[in-house]
Amino acid sequence: MSDSGVQLTEVRKSFGSMEVIHGVNLTIPDGAFVVFVGPSGCGKSTLLRMIAGLEEVTDGEIAIKGREVTDVDPSQRGIAMVFQSYALYPHMTVRDNLAFGLKMQRTEKAVIDERVAAAAAILKIEPLMDRRPGQLSGGQRQRVAIGRAIVRQPEVFLFDEPLSNLDAELRVSMRVEIARLHRELGNTMIYVTHDQTEAMTLADVIVVLRDGRVEQSGSPRTVYEDPDNAFVAGFIGSPR
Ligand code: ADP
Ligand code: MG
Repeated sequence: MSDSGVQLTEVRKSFGSMEVIHGVNLTIPDGAFVVFVGPSGCGKSTLLRMIAGLEEVTDGEIAIKGREVTDVDPSQRGIAMVFQSYALYPHMTVRDNLAFGLKMQRTEKAVIDERVAAAAAILKIEPLMDRRPGQLSGGQRQRVAIGRAIVRQPEVFLFDEPLSNLDAELRVSMRVEIARLHRELGNTMIYVTHDQTEAMTLADVIVVLRDGRVEQSGSPRTVYEDPDNAFVAGFIGSPR
């Protein structure tokens, strides 16, 4: 039980009469960095949103840390999600953006201050705390967005293409920071991208998706060196 971070059992999703996720089974080990990769429209975001509880599961079950959460409210699942669009509050300072979610939960002020300071230190955004989002670069904004997830101290972090709005150079440096974050925090992280390089460099486990199904999952090395089929080989760029 404790060795399972997130477990998906025969998970299906339909929009109207159209099924887009076709019975996905996945065991995501506790503390692993797992990357969902696959072409646009294959169902990466839908899977992540179902884990987050932002999208209802049509059929099947999802468990987080051994607890069945299929009908549990998103705020009670022990997860925090970071989106592609930073969705920061433009009229609030960085400090208030970081604190906002905890204030809403009526967390004690001393605890809020402590967690905000810790997140700021981890992300090296201490000099930016009194600025507003409009006064930040794209990379700095994305750090604040990640900071908002960190202060909630989730069991599981969910990232949906968090770097895709950044330029190439910044993407690389943020990727390094996210890897460091995983080493420091040790949480389970599920990271969605359509970028093979990002997947290969970040993942402990890669899950290759196509048309709402898992084509293959395994270590980057296994998926690269021993792809199960031509689709995986082609997508990952294996020399096959
Ligand atoms: P990805 O994130 O891999 O690009 P998505 O999970 O966004 O893919 O989408 C998977 C499939 O589900 C696509 O065919 C998409 O058009 C469809 N889809 C996603 N969200 C909705 C929705 N709210 N209503 C109808 N179809 C949707
Ligand atoms: Mg998506």
